[in-house]
Amino acid sequence: MIEFAGKSVFKGIASAKISVYKRYDPTVKCFTVDDPEAELRRFYAARDMAVDQLDELYSMALDEVGDESAAIFMIHTMMLEDFSFINSVENLISNGHFNAEYAVSATGHSFYDMFLGMDDAYMQARSADVRDVSERLLTILYGNSQQEISSDEPAIILAEDLSPSETVRLAKGNIIGFVTSAGSVSSHTSILARTMKMPSIVDAGFEVLKEYDGLHAVIDGYDGKIYIDPDEAFVTKMLRKQRDEAIKAELLNEYKGRDNVTIDGRRISLTASVGSLSEIDDAVFYDAGGIGLFRTEFIYLEKERFPTEDELFEIYREAAEKMGDKEVCIRALDVGADKRMGYFGLPEETNPALGCRGIRYLLRNPDIFRTQLRAIYRASAYGNLSVMYPMISTVVDVGRINRFNNDIKKELDADGIEYGNVKHGIIVETPSAVMISDLLAREADFLVIGTNDLAQYTLVIDREETAVHEFYDPLNISMFRMIKMVIDNAHRYKKKVSICGELSSDPTITHIFLAMGADEISVIPSDILLMRKAVCSTNVTEISQHTLQQLWM
Ligand code: PEP
Ligand code: MG
Repeated sequence: MIEFAGKSVFKGIASAKISVYKRYDPTVKCFTVDDPEAELRRFYAARDMAVDQLDELYSMALDEVGDESAAIFMIHTMMLEDFSFINSVENLISNGHFNAEYAVSATGHSFYDMFLGMDDAYMQARSADVRDVSERLLTILYGNSQQEISSDEPAIILAEDLSPSETVRLAKGNIIGFVTSAGSVSSHTSILARTMKMPSIVDAGFEVLKEYDGLHAVIDGYDGKIYIDPDEAFVTKMLRKQRDEAIKAELLNEYKGRDNVTIDGRRISLTASVGSLSEIDDAVFYDAGGIGLFRTEFIYLEKERFPTEDELFEIYREAAEKMGDKEVCIRALDVGADKRMGYFGLPEETNPALGCRGIRYLLRNPDIFRTQLRAIYRASAYGNLSVMYPMISTVVDVGRINRFNNDIKKELDADGIEYGNVKHGIIVETPSAVMISDLLAREADFLVIGTNDLAQYTLVIDREETAVHEFYDPLNISMFRMIKMVIDNAHRYKKKVSICGELSSDPTITHIFLAMGADEISVIPSDILLMRKAVCSTNVTEISQHTLQQLWM
């Protein structure tokens, strides 16, 4: 048996066969070939396979989401049959004697630039389709016939890293756990794995990628370990551990129905951070006081095109109805940085974490923003919905958001469409937002501190980057001081503050958040009872004043 240790993302046990996932190398190599005819045949075969894949995707989409949405796959097929596209690839292979991968990639890039440079917004958006089509062709040419990660039987994936858009599809592909050689626990991939309750480990080192394909493995997400080729006795031991952990979790059930109140009477709200409707069921199961953060981007990452207003409305309405009169705080779409899909049309950026993400993407793409806001307003007639905005760094951002909301309310009024009293919050996750949190608190109905990004931008350490992870310390004193500043500023304007992100789930610092006066803590549903236990065992008045002074003086 071989054993590797990494960082645990989700505490759980998975036992299955290994499937090693290698993404095709996107840095396309350019070289000349001796037999251009054979290279052309490779290209035609890849194109035929891509057309077959798209036909299949079209039929699947037609059944599941209807013809309007399925049309995207038809557009991709048309691009693969487009004379000028094909002609350009053929030319590069026949006359330039270039390899097929280079011919496809070079053609894809020049068509991408051409579409992006057009005046018409519809044609500009087609640039993302060109990129998707060439990536599909390249994937096939590099020998991976499917872009999906899937297996016929339950499997554990070993990979260098996974993107959020790959992760969101894992469960559908029969994958029950994963281990990556790189990665960080605060990445969106890890957040997604936790919300999917998928036993997983990141940062396990490159040795884990050796040829273990097809061997049996057990992931122990409690200890952050993967065991390859274990004997039967070991597998049985692990399954027993899984049962014991379930019993421990069961013991927390005594906290269901109890108030979140400290020994000395400080009350706090404990809400759930979720990314899908099924997690809202978990939130109800674990007795959450509401939904403090509904990450909506995972709904988009699962699709090959933007969801329609009606599709979003149905999801938000169901979320509102499931939670009854408890508040559901929907976060406006936060894509960009690592959360990308071809159809988002995101620009190529040298530093995407500092680029077009969160509110910047929404303000630049008003139709997408409006569609989401309209769906939220319409769904608000069915429950207690609020909305919050990610990556705010100036008050000007807020002014621009307000104009969107005012316009939408006018439209709905004119059409006689009902909506509820939607509250508006701001996620404080940039140092700039911390420094102007008094001004933001004046503008907004509530503030939410997003500790993941706040740590990334405060420490100036990419939350995704394994190479600098030893320096990433979200418990740094700078974080506590910032959090305290935001809470004090919000309270000056009688606004509530919630804390979300990975720090909020750490029961060893809950007492500090309580002492600071946080009004709400939002954690993944399965951590609610653990956090309630932490709150109920805290005596805020007994917390050393000296420690607190050191933290925020
Ligand atoms: C955060 O940054 O803390 C947060 C809640 O948002 P996300 O992790 O989705 O970026
Ligand atoms: Mg964030």
